[in-house]
Amino acid sequence: MDTTKLSKFYKKSHEEKISALFEAGVISDEERQTLLSNNLDLNLETGSNMIENHLGNYSLPLGVAMNFVIDGTNKVIPMAIEEPSVIAAASFAAKIISTGGGFSTDVPDRQVIGQVTLKHVGNMAEAREIVLNAKQAILDRANEAHPSIVKRGGGARDLTVRILEEPALPGFPAFLSVHLHIDTKEAMGANIINTMMEGIAPYIEELTGGTALLRILSNYATESLATSHCVIPAHALKTGKYTGEEVRDRIIEATQVATIDPYRAVTHNKGIMNGVDAVVAATGNDWRAVEASVHAYASRSGQYRSLTTWETNEQGDLTGSLTLPLPIGTVGGAISIHPAAQLSHTILGHPNVNELAGILASVGLAQNLAAVRALVTDGIQKGHMGLHARSLAISAGAKGEQVQQVADLLKQAPYMNLDSARSILRNLKYN
Ligand code: NDP
Repeated sequence: MDTTKLSKFYKKSHEEKISALFEAGVISDEERQTLLSNNLDLNLETGSNMIENHLGNYSLPLGVAMNFVIDGTNKVIPMAIEEPSVIAAASFAAKIISTGGGFSTDVPDRQVIGQVTLKHVGNMAEAREIVLNAKQAILDRANEAHPSIVKRGGGARDLTVRILEEPALPGFPAFLSVHLHIDTKEAMGANIINTMMEGIAPYIEELTGGTALLRILSNYATESLATSHCVIPAHALKTGKYTGEEVRDRIIEATQVATIDPYRAVTHNKGIMNGVDAVVAATGNDWRAVEASVHAYASRSGQYRSLTTWETNEQGDLTGSLTLPLPIGTVGGAISIHPAAQLSHTILGHPNVNELAGILASVGLAQNLAAVRALVTDGIQKGHMGLHARSLAISAGAKGEQVQQVADLLKQAPYMNLDSARSILRNLKYN
């Protein structure tokens, strides 16, 4: 990728941005034509084959974040999101992080968990032993239920058994939950695993004498973790008002607050997910699965806490890390169908699923740095309201050049709201 073609990207016109991506080698000529003709939407026929009672397609803006250096490689990051400031903030933080060499990621081999949960199991401990002893026969049956994933080098790898009891809720029944740990290769694996779980359930019922109540994957992707780290020299954090060391310490303190206070942690983590969800959506992945998994992981200690860690090292640098459970894929679901998802994978350089997970964790870490740095220095409204002004201008009815004119005047108005935007637009029209 020729990153020189991408400098001052945000200052370029729409057409220049698309040409710059082509000239930098990020997209092909064909993809450039598709973008120039605004032809990324699903067609009606595809949409109606994807969901029931389809009426039309609901579009989100697709943009790109810049300045990401992940494991030594420059990346342009596609993001589908309606919220102003997210892309600018990610790009800004990635630039700061690049002063320390960028992001380094750590993504161990991934497995996805499927559960068969049984009720009416007589002797739980005995049933557990029986299931554990039949491990290989169960794994074989699971693989026979979805042979194509085995041909691809994946399949069911391991089995564990959990007895689900809740002593705090007297009278609650106990359940037996059989977990299969499955390598789904490049797929997120929901359909693969659900097929396997339905395939093995009758055999497990036979083994245990219980009745299978649930046969489905778990979206709590504790075996699909991705971590991103960064090291930022303190001087790179300085603002007009604060030294780099002061900003570093305030970021660390703000993260300590989010570690001990769930009221702050939820907003802290929402900021992380601003970036993660935007890339998950752009790449055609199941953002409900990712959201559910990530927030459960934030509660793994028994309290909902910050997902990021910010500390200082012996050199006085700010060091950050973020670990996320990521039930994602690079094939299957909407990924192979949606033209914008396909383009997003191209923009990312067609990462494999582990690389995509590392990219997501890096985007989340950047997004968190941007948000917390802004919060502990100028506050986030300064940056946020600038872009929000454009949305208000459009809501008030501004078109073309009027959008920027109304937004500029709105920033100087005593109240930045829709009424002010309307009155500014009226005045512009009369002058
Ligand atoms: P799909 O069933 O759409 O696609 C996976 C298939 O892609 C595989 O079975 C395999 O089929 C094929 N494939 C091609 N290349 C590869 C490769 N390199 N590695 C692995 N598979 C490959 O998707 P998933 O099973 O991943 O399920 C994801 C979908 O399920 C999403 O749309 C999600 O929204 C939905 N879903 C999610 C649930 C959840 O709880 N999160 C629940 C139910 C559905 P083959 O080998 O036969 O060619």
